[in-house]
Amino acid sequence: SIVVLGSANLDLVYRVQNIPGPGETVLAASRASHPGGKGNNQATAAVRAGAAASFIVSVGQDEAGAMLLDGLESDGVRVSARRVTEPTGTALITVADSGENSIVVDSGANSLLAELTETELGIIEEAGILLMQLEVPVETVGRAAAVAHAAGALVVLNAAPIRELEAELLAAVDLLIVNEHEAFRLLADTGLQATEATVAAELLLELVPAVIITLGAAGALVAERGKSVRTVPAFEVTAVDTTGAGDTFCGALVAALEAQREAGANDLELESAARFASAAAAISVQRAGAVPSIPGRQEIEDFLGH
Ligand code: ADP
Repeated sequence: SIVVLGSANLDLVYRVQNIPGPGETVLAASRASHPGGKGNNQATAAVRAGAAASFIVSVGQDEAGAMLLDGLESDGVRVSARRVTEPTGTALITVADSGENSIVVDSGANSLLAELTETELGIIEEAGILLMQLEVPVETVGRAAAVAHAAGALVVLNAAPIRELEAELLAAVDLLIVNEHEAFRLLADTGLQATEATVAAELLLELVPAVIITLGAAGALVAERGKSVRTVPAFEVTAVDTTGAGDTFCGALVAALEAQREAGANDLELESAARFASAAAAISVQRAGAVPSIPGRQEIEDFLGH
């Protein structure tokens, strides 16, 4: 089964005409609060896409924390939660009329997801696929990756928000998922340089065996060692809110990979999983919010014309 280790936040979403620049104040057309955080979104996306998933998370002993856990449980995510003294993480999100966003995150309780407990390590050791992001302490991500890798799981890292990564962590990663900006940053940190996504994908294969670079409305690149880089086009839709598109993509992708594993596949087909994931993401960008916009399996299959 799938194990997601990562963040949960309360998203405060302000809809504005244009995202304010430095020194600028703008009035919002509306404000809403939703469950969010990359871990929370990706665990929800995996479950809605039809997979069984456990989620290792840290939230506060506050109302936001209780609300997030309720949401996860009602979606059928198996939650392994710490309730800590820090407040639940929050994200301040502005969404422009164009659908573009800007985000400020206060990690709060997420920053206390350190020193994995016996229970958490047990869950990670049982994982078929471990999916993580970088909104929780990177030492925890490194330790979980090493444990899962040693136990034979497929370790998937969505390196967002981007930060410098230790070679030791990358050595335990089987599949890296990044957007274009994150891909270039990661390469720059290792002294490599690329200005073109296809080149970046090839260079990243020197660090990990497989890479997906998401390119927003331009789709995604799938790269695996020994194969040429392939493009998975995005579906043409009208985007109203791209918050969580990447998370929906990651969660749906691992759900598709897990389905392949369960069907007994020896070699996982990344490209077809990425196609399923782009369909899920394309549905999500047509609706507001992160978690509220994540589609279910039937909807994704209908969209794909099954
Ligand atoms: P992130 O939000 O992490 O930067 P992207 O913006 O690259 O991620 O989006 C992830 C995936 O979501 C893309 O690869 C694509 O499949 C889908 N997607 C994103 N924006 C759109 C869009 N405007 N139309 C259709 N699909 C989209």
